[in-house]
Amino acid sequence: MYTLIPLKQAEITAPIGLGMLMGDMTQLVTAPVYVWCVEGGRRKILVDAGVEAKGRGDLEVRGGGEEGLKKALERVGLSPGEVEVLVLTHLHFDHVACAGLFENARIYVQKEEWETALSPLPPLRPFYDQRLLEPLEGMDLVLVEGDQELEEGLELLHLPGHTEGMQGLALRTKAGKAVLASDLLYTYLNLHSPFPHTPFYPPALIVDLRDWFRSVHKALRVASRRELVYPGHEPSLEGKRLPEVEG
Ligand SMILES: [Zn+2]
Repeated sequence: MYTLIPLKQAEITAPIGLGMLMGDMTQLVTAPVYVWCVEGGRRKILVDAGVEAKGRGDLEVRGGGEEGLKKALERVGLSPGEVEVLVLTHLHFDHVACAGLFENARIYVQKEEWETALSPLPPLRPFYDQRLLEPLEGMDLVLVEGDQELEEGLELLHLPGHTEGMQGLALRTKAGKAVLASDLLYTYLNLHSPFPHTPFYPPALIVDLRDWFRSVHKALRVASRRELVYPGHEPSLEGKRLPEVEG
């Protein structure tokens, strides 16, 4: 059985409209940047590698960087050199910044994500920082194609839509099968639409809306219950060990 622990590495302030397609770009909201510790496996597993300490354009960052990451890992008694498996859900700047610290880890990223991140379409360039991707080239990088089992009861799930090669994680827990959806869903607002015309509501940053809907359905199909689908930047998950409920 696995337990998922969201560890806040930084806070990022962005327009509300980034979290909701066609939302208000004049009002700001602050959201956590998490790295996720997966407990219960044979190896020490971490998901994602955080954001740099400096902000980016009009996105303000508090905390972050290597210091923020080490502090986040302290909560579970881990140092970066002890991490054996690093899953990168996708290669946006706020998920990959400190990957170079994990020198002993085998790093899993989708092949499609790797290829699109190295030559992103022009509007997507601000989200892929080539400077942050360079260290990965010399590391123990595994390029995954589609769904793949990492360990028994722990599976990488290809969930395209937010990016072409985004992946989540499906894990067997005491409450059933859970899915870490990463930025497929920024917050619960994306999973529980505030609008009557649609069951889910996408974030603003989507490369393919049809893929996005398919991936949300896939996450819900894989997870035993909707409450076991976890968004990537949901503030209410801070400080928790997931799942909180028994099966
Ligand atoms: Zn993202």
